[in-house]
Amino acid sequence: MARDLIHVYTGGSRGRGVLLGGDATISFAADVKSELSSLTPARSCCQLTELLGIFYSSRGRIIRSGDGQAAYFPLLRNPIARKVVRLVHLLGGMEVKYQASRSAKQMTFTVELSLPDHLREHFELASSRFGVESACDRKALVRGVFLGCGSVNAPSARYHLEFVLPSAGWAAVVAGLLAAHEIRAGTGQRQGHHLVYLKDGDGIARTLSLMGASRAVMEFENIRVVREVSGQVNRRINFETANIDKTIESAMRQVAAIEALERSGRLSILSPALQEVARVRRDNPEMNLTEIALHMRLSKSAVNHRLRRLVELAEGGAALSELDEARPEPAGVV
Ligand SMILES: [Zn+2]
Repeated sequence: MARDLIHVYTGGSRGRGVLLGGDATISFAADVKSELSSLTPARSCCQLTELLGIFYSSRGRIIRSGDGQAAYFPLLRNPIARKVVRLVHLLGGMEVKYQASRSAKQMTFTVELSLPDHLREHFELASSRFGVESACDRKALVRGVFLGCGSVNAPSARYHLEFVLPSAGWAAVVAGLLAAHEIRAGTGQRQGHHLVYLKDGDGIARTLSLMGASRAVMEFENIRVVREVSGQVNRRINFETANIDKTIESAMRQVAAIEALERSGRLSILSPALQEVARVRRDNPEMNLTEIALHMRLSKSAVNHRLRRLVELAEGGAALSELDEARPEPAGVV
C-alpha cells in the first residue's frame, strides 16, 4: 500500500475544536453523522460505493495532482473526512492527503486521493451511469450520500430529513434508492440545489435504519413515541374540554329558560312531566343529561326532549297549548 501523507493545518492558534468537528452545536444531525461516520463496511464493494457516495454528494471533483489526477473532497465535518481517509486505507492503492483549514465562517476539511487508472473511471461517472446492483451497496450509497449532503431534524422538532444534491440526476438516483426500500421521498429545488426530502416520521426512521444508524433510530423512535402520545393526550383534552363547555353552555341556557317561564307564570301551567324536569334542572345546573336521566329514572332522549321543549317555549314565545299538544313526545318516552 502506498504511503499516506497526512498533513493537518489548523489555521492559526485558535485550533480549538478542530478535532471535534466544529462548535458547540451538537445537533441530532451531527450525532447521526458521527454515528454513520463510525461505521466501517466490511466488504470492499461497499467501501468503494460509500466513498463514491460521499464524493459525488459533497461536490467532489477531479483535480491535477503531480503527474496524475486526484479526487478532491471538500467536507464540512471532521468525522466524515476521517471516514474518507479510513475507507481509502481499507481499499488500498491510493495516496491520501488530509487537511483542515479555518475560514472566517467555518472549518473545512479536505481530502485528496491520488487516483490510479483502474479507479479513476469510478470518480468520473455521470449520475445516469451510476448503478448499484447489490443490496449492500445500495445501503452504502445512501449512507455515503447522506454523509456528503444530508441533514435531519431532531425528532422533537418538525419531522424533516433531506439530501441537498448537486444535480437533478443525483436527486433521481437517491429518490430511486429510497423508493426501492419503499420509502417515498419528495423532490424539489432550492436555490439551484436539488432536494430529496422526507417529512414523515416513518420514512425518516426507515431511512436512518437503512443507513445503519441504529442508535439514531432508537433515539428518534423514543422521542417520537413521547411526542405522539402527548399529541394524542392534547387532542383528547381539547375534545373533552370542548364537550364540557358545550354541556355547561346548554345547562345555563336551560336554567335561564326555566327561570323565564317561572317569572312569566307559565311554568305552573305546563304538563307535570315538563314541570318535573324543569325543577330537577333548575336545582342541579351542574348535572349533564345522563345524570339527570339517571336521577329521574327516565331515558336520556326523554330528558333531552323535555328540556328542549322548555327552551323552545321560553325563547320562542309560542303559544303553550299549541306547542304542548301539537308535538307529542317520541315513542318510548315515559
Ligand atoms: Zn457491497
